[in-house]
Amino acid sequence: MNSKPTHKPDITELTKKELTQWVKEHELKLYRAGQIMRWIYFKHAASFDKMTDIAKKTRQLLIDHFIFSHLHIQQIATSEDGARKYLFRLKDGNFIETVLIPEKNHYTLCISTQVGCAMGCRFCMTAKSGLIRNLTQGEIIGQILGIAKNITGKKQLTNIVLMGMGEPLANYDNVIRAIDIITDPDCGMQFSTRRVTLSTSGLIPKFHELGRDTKINLAISLNATDNRTRNMLMPINKKYPIEELIDACSRYPLAPRNKITFEYILIKDINDSMADADRLAKLLRPVKAKINLIPFNEHPESEFKRPDESVILSFQAVLHNKNYTAIIRRSKGGDISAACGQLCAKNIKESANPAPRYSVSESP
Ligand code: SAH
Ligand code: SF4
Repeated sequence: MNSKPTHKPDITELTKKELTQWVKEHELKLYRAGQIMRWIYFKHAASFDKMTDIAKKTRQLLIDHFIFSHLHIQQIATSEDGARKYLFRLKDGNFIETVLIPEKNHYTLCISTQVGCAMGCRFCMTAKSGLIRNLTQGEIIGQILGIAKNITGKKQLTNIVLMGMGEPLANYDNVIRAIDIITDPDCGMQFSTRRVTLSTSGLIPKFHELGRDTKINLAISLNATDNRTRNMLMPINKKYPIEELIDACSRYPLAPRNKITFEYILIKDINDSMADADRLAKLLRPVKAKINLIPFNEHPESEFKRPDESVILSFQAVLHNKNYTAIIRRSKGGDISAACGQLCAKNIKESANPAPRYSVSESP
Protein backbone atom coordinates (compact mmCIF):
# COMPACT_ATOMS: atom_id res chain seq x y z
CA MET A 1 0.00 0.00 0.00
CA ASN A 2 2.93 2.36 -0.60
CA SER A 3 1.61 3.84 -3.85
CA LYS A 4 0.41 7.46 -3.91
CA PRO A 5 -3.40 7.78 -3.78
CA THR A 6 -5.18 9.64 -6.59
CA HIS A 7 -7.71 11.20 -4.21
CA LYS A 8 -6.04 12.51 -1.10
CA PRO A 9 -8.14 12.46 2.09
CA ASP A 10 -7.93 15.27 4.61
CA ILE A 11 -5.81 14.19 7.55
CA THR A 12 -8.30 15.72 10.01
CA GLU A 13 -10.86 13.15 8.84
CA LEU A 14 -8.87 10.27 10.37
CA THR A 15 -9.30 8.81 13.84
CA LYS A 16 -6.25 7.88 15.90
CA LYS A 17 -6.83 4.24 15.00
CA GLU A 18 -6.97 5.01 11.27
CA LEU A 19 -3.83 7.14 11.36
CA THR A 20 -2.02 4.47 13.36
CA GLN A 21 -3.04 1.92 10.73
CA TRP A 22 -1.67 4.19 7.97
CA VAL A 23 1.59 4.64 9.88
CA LYS A 24 1.88 0.84 10.19
CA GLU A 25 1.21 0.30 6.51
CA HIS A 26 3.99 2.75 5.65
CA GLU A 27 6.43 1.05 7.98
CA LEU A 28 6.90 4.06 10.22
CA LYS A 29 7.37 3.86 13.97
CA LEU A 30 3.99 3.60 15.70
CA TYR A 31 4.61 6.63 17.93
CA ARG A 32 4.61 8.78 14.78
CA ALA A 33 0.79 8.70 14.71
CA GLY A 34 0.61 10.42 18.11
CA GLN A 35 3.35 12.84 17.16
CA ILE A 36 1.53 13.91 13.98
CA MET A 37 -1.74 14.28 15.86
CA ARG A 38 -0.16 16.41 18.57
CA TRP A 39 1.18 18.75 15.88
CA ILE A 40 -2.27 19.13 14.37
CA TYR A 41 -4.52 19.21 17.42
CA PHE A 42 -2.39 20.52 20.25
CA LYS A 43 0.38 22.60 18.69
CA HIS A 44 -1.88 23.88 15.89
CA ALA A 45 0.65 23.43 13.09
CA ALA A 46 -0.48 25.26 9.97
CA SER A 47 0.92 22.66 7.56
CA PHE A 48 2.93 19.43 7.39
CA ASP A 49 6.07 21.50 6.78
CA LYS A 50 5.78 23.00 10.26
CA MET A 51 6.12 19.59 11.95
CA THR A 52 9.80 20.15 12.54
CA ASP A 53 10.67 17.09 14.62
CA ILE A 54 9.35 14.77 11.95
CA ALA A 55 11.89 13.71 9.32
CA LYS A 56 11.62 15.49 5.97
CA LYS A 57 11.06 12.18 4.21
CA THR A 58 8.11 11.39 6.46
CA ARG A 59 6.65 14.86 5.99
CA GLN A 60 6.86 14.34 2.23
CA LEU A 61 5.07 11.02 2.64
CA LEU A 62 2.29 12.86 4.48
CA ILE A 63 2.10 15.50 1.74
CA ASP A 64 1.87 12.73 -0.88
CA HIS A 65 -1.00 11.00 0.89
CA PHE A 66 -3.05 13.67 2.63
CA ILE A 67 -4.28 17.18 2.35
CA PHE A 68 -4.41 19.27 5.53
CA SER A 69 -7.06 21.90 4.93
CA HIS A 70 -8.47 24.56 7.22
CA LEU A 71 -11.99 25.93 7.34
CA HIS A 72 -12.42 29.29 5.63
CA ILE A 73 -13.61 32.08 7.91
CA GLN A 74 -16.07 34.09 5.82
CA GLN A 75 -17.10 36.60 8.46
CA ILE A 76 -16.62 37.44 12.11
CA ALA A 77 -19.31 39.37 13.96
CA THR A 78 -18.42 40.75 17.38
CA SER A 79 -21.10 41.51 19.90
CA GLU A 80 -21.07 44.35 22.43
CA ASP A 81 -20.80 41.77 25.22
CA GLY A 82 -17.70 40.21 23.64
CA ALA A 83 -19.25 37.12 22.03
CA ARG A 84 -17.74 36.50 18.61
CA LYS A 85 -19.65 34.69 15.96
CA TYR A 86 -17.68 33.02 13.19
CA LEU A 87 -19.26 32.19 9.89
CA PHE A 88 -17.32 29.41 8.15
CA ARG A 89 -17.70 28.68 4.44
CA LEU A 90 -17.30 24.99 3.71
CA LYS A 91 -15.71 23.58 0.56
CA ASP A 92 -19.10 22.93 -1.03
CA GLY A 93 -20.23 26.54 -0.45
CA ASN A 94 -22.42 25.83 2.58
CA PHE A 95 -22.13 28.00 5.69
CA ILE A 96 -21.97 27.04 9.36
CA GLU A 97 -21.71 29.10 12.52
CA THR A 98 -19.51 28.83 15.57
CA VAL A 99 -19.76 31.16 18.57
CA LEU A 100 -16.91 32.01 20.94
CA ILE A 101 -18.31 33.08 24.30
CA PRO A 102 -16.13 34.84 26.85
CA GLU A 103 -16.87 33.72 30.43
CA LYS A 104 -15.28 35.14 33.58
CA ASN A 105 -12.12 33.03 33.52
CA HIS A 106 -12.25 31.14 30.24
CA TYR A 107 -13.82 30.87 26.80
CA THR A 108 -16.57 28.50 25.75
CA LEU A 109 -16.91 27.56 22.08
CA CYS A 110 -20.30 26.57 20.69
CA ILE A 111 -19.85 24.37 17.62
CA SER A 112 -22.17 23.09 14.88
CA THR A 113 -22.65 19.46 13.89
CA GLN A 114 -24.85 19.71 10.78
CA VAL A 115 -25.60 22.18 7.99
CA GLY A 116 -29.22 22.98 8.86
CA CYS A 117 -31.34 20.58 10.91
CA ALA A 118 -34.18 18.18 10.21
CA MET A 119 -35.91 18.51 13.59
CA GLY A 120 -38.14 21.43 12.69
CA CYS A 121 -38.29 23.17 16.07
CA ARG A 122 -40.67 26.07 15.70
CA PHE A 123 -38.56 28.66 17.56
CA CYS A 124 -35.25 27.83 15.88
CA MET A 125 -33.76 29.61 12.90
CA THR A 126 -31.64 26.62 11.89
CA ALA A 127 -34.82 24.59 11.39
CA LYS A 128 -35.97 26.89 8.58
CA SER A 129 -33.51 25.47 6.06
CA GLY A 130 -34.21 21.84 6.91
CA LEU A 131 -31.28 19.44 6.94
CA ILE A 132 -28.76 20.15 4.19
CA ARG A 133 -26.09 17.69 5.25
CA ASN A 134 -24.09 16.23 8.11
CA LEU A 135 -20.74 17.77 8.98
CA THR A 136 -17.73 15.48 8.72
CA GLN A 137 -15.39 14.76 11.62
CA GLY A 138 -12.88 17.19 10.12
CA GLU A 139 -15.47 19.97 9.77
CA ILE A 140 -16.60 19.55 13.39
CA ILE A 141 -13.09 19.72 14.85
CA GLY A 142 -12.04 22.23 12.17
CA GLN A 143 -14.24 24.83 13.87
CA ILE A 144 -12.19 24.47 17.06
CA LEU A 145 -8.87 24.46 15.18
CA GLY A 146 -9.85 27.56 13.19
CA ILE A 147 -10.61 29.56 16.32
CA ALA A 148 -8.36 28.14 19.08
CA LYS A 149 -5.17 29.08 17.27
CA ASN A 150 -6.17 32.76 17.35
CA ILE A 151 -6.88 32.89 21.06
CA THR A 152 -4.10 34.67 22.87
CA GLY A 153 -3.81 36.11 26.37
CA LYS A 154 -4.56 34.65 29.77
CA LYS A 155 -8.08 33.48 29.09
CA GLN A 156 -8.04 30.02 27.56
CA LEU A 157 -10.52 28.01 25.57
CA THR A 158 -11.46 25.27 28.03
CA ASN A 159 -15.10 24.45 27.29
CA ILE A 160 -16.78 23.09 24.19
CA VAL A 161 -20.55 22.84 23.72
CA LEU A 162 -22.11 20.96 20.81
CA MET A 163 -25.02 23.37 20.75
CA GLY A 164 -24.69 25.15 17.45
CA MET A 165 -26.49 24.31 14.23
CA GLY A 166 -27.83 20.80 13.90
CA GLU A 167 -28.84 17.83 16.01
CA PRO A 168 -25.62 16.11 17.13
CA LEU A 169 -27.24 12.72 17.76
CA ALA A 170 -28.58 12.68 14.19
CA ASN A 171 -24.94 12.74 13.00
CA TYR A 172 -23.81 10.24 15.60
CA ASP A 173 -20.77 8.58 14.05
CA ASN A 174 -19.02 11.76 12.96
CA VAL A 175 -19.83 13.46 16.26
CA ILE A 176 -18.31 10.58 18.26
CA ARG A 177 -15.22 10.53 16.03
CA ALA A 178 -14.84 14.27 16.64
CA ILE A 179 -15.40 13.95 20.41
CA ASP A 180 -12.71 11.26 20.57
CA ILE A 181 -10.18 13.73 19.17
CA ILE A 182 -11.49 16.69 21.18
CA THR A 183 -11.11 14.78 24.47
CA ASP A 184 -8.08 12.60 23.69
CA PRO A 185 -5.78 13.44 26.65
CA ASP A 186 -2.65 12.21 24.96
CA CYS A 187 -2.51 13.29 21.33
CA GLY A 188 -5.83 15.03 20.67
CA MET A 189 -7.09 18.43 21.76
CA GLN A 190 -6.93 17.44 25.43
CA PHE A 191 -10.25 18.95 26.55
CA SER A 192 -11.52 17.44 29.78
CA THR A 193 -14.70 15.38 29.26
CA ARG A 194 -16.17 17.38 32.17
CA ARG A 195 -15.87 20.49 30.01
CA VAL A 196 -17.51 19.18 26.87
CA THR A 197 -21.32 19.15 26.61
CA LEU A 198 -23.57 17.71 23.92
CA SER A 199 -27.05 19.18 23.61
CA THR A 200 -29.86 17.16 22.05
CA SER A 201 -33.52 17.69 21.28
CA GLY A 202 -34.04 14.16 22.66
CA LEU A 203 -33.15 11.39 20.19
CA ILE A 204 -33.73 8.75 22.86
CA PRO A 205 -32.58 5.69 20.84
CA LYS A 206 -29.06 7.13 20.73
CA PHE A 207 -28.77 7.70 24.50
CA HIS A 208 -27.61 4.18 25.21
CA GLU A 209 -24.75 4.38 22.70
CA LEU A 210 -23.80 7.87 23.85
CA GLY A 211 -23.56 6.80 27.50
CA ARG A 212 -21.44 3.86 26.43
CA ASP A 213 -19.17 5.70 23.95
CA THR A 214 -18.28 8.86 25.86
CA LYS A 215 -18.21 10.49 29.29
CA ILE A 216 -18.99 14.05 28.15
CA ASN A 217 -21.90 15.98 29.68
CA LEU A 218 -25.42 15.70 28.36
CA ALA A 219 -27.86 18.58 27.91
CA ILE A 220 -31.48 18.22 26.84
CA SER A 221 -33.48 20.93 25.07
CA LEU A 222 -36.72 20.43 26.98
CA ASN A 223 -38.56 23.73 26.50
CA ALA A 224 -41.99 22.57 27.66
CA THR A 225 -43.64 20.67 30.51
CA ASP A 226 -46.61 19.12 28.71
CA ASN A 227 -46.77 17.10 25.51
CA ARG A 228 -49.22 19.41 23.75
CA THR A 229 -46.88 22.41 24.04
CA ARG A 230 -43.73 20.38 23.33
CA ASN A 231 -45.36 18.78 20.27
CA MET A 232 -46.03 22.26 18.97
CA LEU A 233 -42.53 23.63 19.74
CA MET A 234 -40.49 20.51 18.97
CA PRO A 235 -42.10 17.99 16.58
CA ILE A 236 -39.65 15.27 17.70
CA ASN A 237 -41.77 15.10 20.85
CA LYS A 238 -44.51 13.34 18.87
CA LYS A 239 -42.10 10.44 18.44
CA TYR A 240 -40.42 10.57 21.84
CA PRO A 241 -42.81 12.21 24.32
CA ILE A 242 -41.79 13.90 27.55
CA GLU A 243 -42.38 10.89 29.86
CA GLU A 244 -40.13 8.66 27.72
CA LEU A 245 -37.49 11.38 27.53
CA ILE A 246 -37.41 11.86 31.30
CA ASP A 247 -37.35 8.11 31.83
CA ALA A 248 -34.38 7.74 29.44
CA CYS A 249 -32.60 10.59 31.28
CA SER A 250 -33.16 8.96 34.66
CA ARG A 251 -31.45 5.82 33.36
CA TYR A 252 -28.55 7.67 31.70
CA PRO A 253 -25.17 6.59 33.14
CA LEU A 254 -23.80 9.64 34.97
CA ALA A 255 -20.51 10.00 36.78
CA PRO A 256 -20.92 10.62 40.53
CA ARG A 257 -21.79 14.28 41.19
CA ASN A 258 -22.57 14.85 37.50
CA LYS A 259 -25.98 16.13 36.41
CA ILE A 260 -27.93 16.40 33.17
CA THR A 261 -28.57 19.99 32.10
CA PHE A 262 -32.12 20.76 30.98
CA GLU A 263 -32.36 23.76 28.69
CA TYR A 264 -35.63 25.60 28.86
CA ILE A 265 -36.24 28.49 26.47
CA LEU A 266 -38.70 30.85 28.13
CA ILE A 267 -41.27 32.02 25.58
CA LYS A 268 -43.90 34.58 26.48
CA ASP A 269 -47.37 33.08 27.13
CA ILE A 270 -46.31 29.70 25.76
CA ASN A 271 -44.29 27.99 28.51
CA ASP A 272 -43.56 30.71 31.08
CA SER A 273 -46.41 30.34 33.59
CA MET A 274 -45.86 29.57 37.28
CA ALA A 275 -47.80 26.34 36.69
CA ASP A 276 -45.13 25.44 34.10
CA ALA A 277 -42.40 26.13 36.65
CA ASP A 278 -44.17 23.85 39.16
CA ARG A 279 -44.62 21.12 36.55
CA LEU A 280 -40.98 21.40 35.50
CA ALA A 281 -39.83 20.93 39.09
CA LYS A 282 -42.05 17.85 39.47
CA LEU A 283 -41.10 16.41 36.09
CA LEU A 284 -37.36 16.49 36.79
CA ARG A 285 -37.57 14.84 40.23
CA PRO A 286 -36.43 11.39 38.97
CA VAL A 287 -33.34 12.85 37.29
CA LYS A 288 -30.13 14.34 38.63
CA ALA A 289 -30.87 17.62 36.94
CA LYS A 290 -29.85 21.24 36.70
CA ILE A 291 -31.72 23.79 34.67
CA ASN A 292 -30.64 26.49 32.23
CA LEU A 293 -33.36 29.06 31.63
CA ILE A 294 -32.84 30.79 28.28
CA PRO A 295 -35.00 33.85 27.61
CA PHE A 296 -36.15 33.49 24.00
CA ASN A 297 -33.89 35.29 21.56
CA GLU A 298 -36.35 37.12 19.32
CA HIS A 299 -35.83 37.08 15.56
CA PRO A 300 -37.89 38.42 12.66
CA GLU A 301 -38.84 34.99 11.35
CA SER A 302 -40.53 33.99 14.60
CA GLU A 303 -43.88 34.93 16.09
CA PHE A 304 -42.57 34.22 19.62
CA LYS A 305 -41.61 36.83 22.19
CA ARG A 306 -39.36 36.92 25.22
CA PRO A 307 -41.19 37.10 28.58
CA ASP A 308 -40.92 40.20 30.77
CA GLU A 309 -37.97 40.24 33.14
CA SER A 310 -40.21 39.87 36.20
CA VAL A 311 -41.71 36.66 34.78
CA ILE A 312 -38.26 35.22 34.09
CA LEU A 313 -37.15 35.93 37.67
CA SER A 314 -40.35 34.50 39.19
CA PHE A 315 -39.97 31.34 37.11
CA GLN A 316 -36.43 30.94 38.41
CA ALA A 317 -37.55 31.59 42.00
CA VAL A 318 -40.06 28.71 41.85
CA LEU A 319 -37.26 26.34 40.82
CA HIS A 320 -34.90 27.69 43.48
CA ASN A 321 -37.58 27.14 46.11
CA LYS A 322 -37.75 23.52 45.03
CA ASN A 323 -33.96 23.25 45.48
CA TYR A 324 -32.93 23.17 41.84
CA THR A 325 -29.89 24.86 40.40
CA ALA A 326 -31.50 27.10 37.79
CA ILE A 327 -29.31 29.55 35.94
CA ILE A 328 -30.64 32.23 33.62
CA ARG A 329 -28.50 31.96 30.48
CA ARG A 330 -28.79 35.24 28.71
CA SER A 331 -27.75 34.27 25.24
CA LYS A 332 -24.73 36.37 24.55
CA GLY A 333 -24.41 38.22 21.31
CA GLY A 334 -28.09 39.06 20.96
CA ASP A 335 -27.11 42.10 18.88
CA ILE A 336 -25.25 39.88 16.40
CA SER A 337 -28.00 37.27 16.24
CA ALA A 338 -25.93 34.72 18.10
CA ALA A 339 -28.84 32.33 18.56
CA CYS A 340 -28.51 29.24 16.54
CA GLY A 341 -28.69 29.70 12.78
CA GLN A 342 -29.44 33.40 12.72
CA LEU A 343 -26.23 34.82 11.25
CA CYS A 344 -26.14 32.06 8.70
CA ALA A 345 -29.63 32.87 7.49
CA LYS A 346 -28.74 36.56 7.34
CA ASN A 347 -25.61 35.86 5.37
CA ILE A 348 -27.42 33.81 2.78
CA LYS A 349 -30.03 36.54 2.37
CA GLU A 350 -27.52 39.35 2.32
CA SER A 351 -25.38 37.77 -0.34
CA ALA A 352 -28.37 38.59 -2.56
CA ASN A 353 -28.68 42.05 -0.98
CA PRO A 354 -25.32 42.92 0.58
CA ALA A 355 -26.18 45.54 3.20
CA PRO A 356 -25.21 44.25 6.64
CA ARG A 357 -27.35 45.48 9.51
CA TYR A 358 -24.80 44.42 12.09
CA SER A 359 -21.15 45.11 12.76
CA VAL A 360 -18.95 42.56 11.07
CA SER A 361 -15.38 42.29 10.02
CA GLU A 362 -14.70 40.54 6.75
CA SER A 363 -12.07 37.89 7.01
CA PRO A 364 -9.26 38.02 4.46
N1 SAH B 1 -30.08 20.54 18.21
C1 SAH B 1 -29.58 20.48 19.52
C2 SAH B 1 -28.34 21.29 19.64
C3 SAH B 1 -28.45 22.70 19.91
S1 SAH B 1 -29.69 23.66 19.07
C4 SAH B 1 -30.64 20.86 20.52
O1 SAH B 1 -31.73 21.26 20.11
O2 SAH B 1 -30.40 20.70 21.70
C5 SAH B 1 -29.22 25.12 19.66
C6 SAH B 1 -29.72 25.59 21.00
O3 SAH B 1 -30.19 26.90 20.78
C7 SAH B 1 -30.87 24.80 21.61
O4 SAH B 1 -30.67 24.67 23.00
C8 SAH B 1 -32.06 25.67 21.32
O5 SAH B 1 -33.05 25.44 22.28
C9 SAH B 1 -31.46 27.05 21.33
N2 SAH B 1 -32.18 28.05 20.53
C10 SAH B 1 -32.58 27.94 19.25
N3 SAH B 1 -33.23 29.05 18.87
C11 SAH B 1 -33.25 29.88 19.93
C12 SAH B 1 -33.78 31.19 20.18
N4 SAH B 1 -34.42 31.87 19.23
N5 SAH B 1 -33.62 31.73 21.40
C13 SAH B 1 -32.95 31.06 22.38
N6 SAH B 1 -32.42 29.84 22.21
C14 SAH B 1 -32.57 29.25 21.01
FE1 SF4 C 1 -32.44 21.42 15.35
FE2 SF4 C 1 -31.78 22.04 17.88
FE3 SF4 C 1 -32.76 23.92 16.24
FE4 SF4 C 1 -34.36 21.98 17.13
S1 SF4 C 1 -33.33 23.55 18.39
S2 SF4 C 1 -34.23 22.71 15.00
S3 SF4 C 1 -32.99 20.26 17.18
S4 SF4 C 1 -30.84 22.84 16.00
